[in-house]
Amino acid sequence: MISLSMFLGQALERSEITVATEAGGTVVTTCRDGSAFCLDKLVCATGFGSQYDNELFRHLRRESTLQTGYRGAPVLDDDTLRWMRQDGTPSRIAVSGVAAQQVLGPFARNVIGARRAGELIAGLLESELKMKQRGVSRPEI
Ligand SMILES: Cc1cc2nc3c(=O)[nH]c(=O)nc-3n(C[C@H](O)[C@H](O)[C@H](O)COP(=O)(O)OP(=O)(O)OC[C@H]3O[C@@H](n4cnc5c(N)ncnc54)[C@H](O)[C@@H]3O)c2cc1C
Repeated sequence: MISLSMFLGQALERSEITVATEAGGTVVTTCRDGSAFCLDKLVCATGFGSQYDNELFRHLRRESTLQTGYRGAPVLDDDTLRWMRQDGTPSRIAVSGVAAQQVLGPFARNVIGARRAGELIAGLLESELKMKQRGVSRPEI
């Protein structure tokens, strides 16, 4: 599980995110150890195990406004691997690993899939950063 900040990345390594909810312009996450974080974006780099049965994905399916498809798989934006909301806009949550297999195919579970997911997600973050640096404002998602 990767967060955008190294500090948070280190903190999250010690626990498991069980709940993630979009709230205003942030994603609020709660961990099994009771800690909670407010993030700009959340990348669920949760690996190759079945993502549709774990606590985090069960919560996201049950509680949120995110779109799910066959067997609860996340409905993703093909270019950025962001999880789409039910209203058709991309959310602040992106995925890699098996959770991205609808876009990346069977290689999503392997290193080559993880690398491709990384390229797509990093591309999105890079273009957002460049726009911010140029002072180009676009509607906050
Ligand atoms: C025995 C074996 C052999 C393999 N051989 C190959 C091979 O030869 N070639 C190949 O390409 N691939 C191989 N793979 C697959 C390869 O290991 C994966 O593709 C790679 O590890 C994926 O990296 P990742 O960072 O996406 O996920 P992972 O390395 O699985 O990391 C995901 C991390 O997210 C954490 N996590 C999950 N859910 C949460 C949560 N809710 N909150 C916080 N953290 C969470 C997990 O604990 C884990 O640390 C093999 C796998 C196994 C098991």
